[in-house]
Amino acid sequence: MKYIKNKFLIEKFTVENIAKKYGTPAYCYSYNRLKENIVNFKKSFKSFKPLICFAVKSNTNINLIKEIKKFGLGADVVSMGELMMALKAGINPKKIVFSGVGKTANEIKYAISKNILLINAESKSEIKEIERIAKSNKKKVEIGIRLNPNTDAKTLSQISTGKKGNKFGVDSKTFLSLTKYCKKSKNINLRCLSVHIGSQILDHKPYEKMLKVLSNIIKKSSYKFDFIDLGGGMGIPYDKLRKKLNFKKYNLAIKKFLKINSSTIIFEPGRSIIGNTGILVSKIIYIKKNTQKDFIILDAAMNDLIRPALYGAFHRILPAKKKNKKIKKKYEFVGPICESTDKFSSIKYSQELNEKDLVIIHDVGAYGMSLGSNYNLRLKPVELLIKNSKITVIRKRQTYKDII
Ligand SMILES: *Cc1c(COP(=O)(O)O)cnc(C)c1O
Repeated sequence: MKYIKNKFLIEKFTVENIAKKYGTPAYCYSYNRLKENIVNFKKSFKSFKPLICFAVKSNTNINLIKEIKKFGLGADVVSMGELMMALKAGINPKKIVFSGVGKTANEIKYAISKNILLINAESKSEIKEIERIAKSNKKKVEIGIRLNPNTDAKTLSQISTGKKGNKFGVDSKTFLSLTKYCKKSKNINLRCLSVHIGSQILDHKPYEKMLKVLSNIIKKSSYKFDFIDLGGGMGIPYDKLRKKLNFKKYNLAIKKFLKINSSTIIFEPGRSIIGNTGILVSKIIYIKKNTQKDFIILDAAMNDLIRPALYGAFHRILPAKKKNKKIKKKYEFVGPICESTDKFSSIKYSQELNEKDLVIIHDVGAYGMSLGSNYNLRLKPVELLIKNSKITVIRKRQTYKDII
């Protein structure tokens, strides 16, 4: 994905031509980028051969999950729907972990019947519920317990999950008592200690702290965990000023940890696998001039991409076609939805935009389409995969017949 002669291309296709053929707004994914991300991820941690479970909630498109599966990845799921989707995509159940604070009896039953690798439990009540269902099915079910390591992930507060006040996991004291409880249980086999401290983490230090907390609690529990599930959260740069999480430093910290605690490491990356593979192509409907800034009214809105409205997240928005004439303007990119939060960003721009121009919202592969909705009864956009000089529609644009 890059500009060639002022036009933005994915592989050999210009965004202009893609938009002409498939309409806008359109999610477009680059297979090459996806492959690069997975190969790089594997290579960065290859010395300890982790099980990499793609966090399906970041992108639930079955065709993308199928591609990810081909690289040998498993799945981290957080609902029955996601578990069904992962299985339908052909992911081996022995590579699936089930996370989440509120799994219902129905979801637990289903997970047990599919013999997945681990149900990562997040409370005493949940463990008892798993035990009850396992017993009535005459099974011994393999589980993990999610610890809240009380580690500040130093990310947006809305996507931090590993601090004392967060709803996720159990505190150290509860963790130790639950370990004892599981040891005695006939229907539960505790195999994993899991954590996930948050998302979009760019600094390796919170991970180092988390690993120290893990080492301590493993020592205190004197329990041998077959798996240590470190969760996901590896961040990517959404703007030019930042760098992605330093895998080398994280890798070193884990290797140090493994010298004392020999277990299989599980990762649950979502964003770092799929985030930068996707762009959202949108057309400018109107430009409304204002004294301080011009409003660029796009045909994409918060129902297509809610991250800016939900977390104040930033996405680069660039023109599909660069113009040579330079100007200085402040543009505010907004959607047509009847909400003041339906805006993407305010940016200083160096080129003039016109009505009907195409723009590209970058790095929307993770938590883009999967958080999409039909708010304002807008149709969900088309999803396209660009692979080996071929464009495939991997999800059709919704039609009014679909939703009315
Ligand atoms: C959301 C989530 C992930 C994935 O997080 P990313 O930031 O996308 O890597 C992994 N594990 C759990 C338990 C999650 O809730």
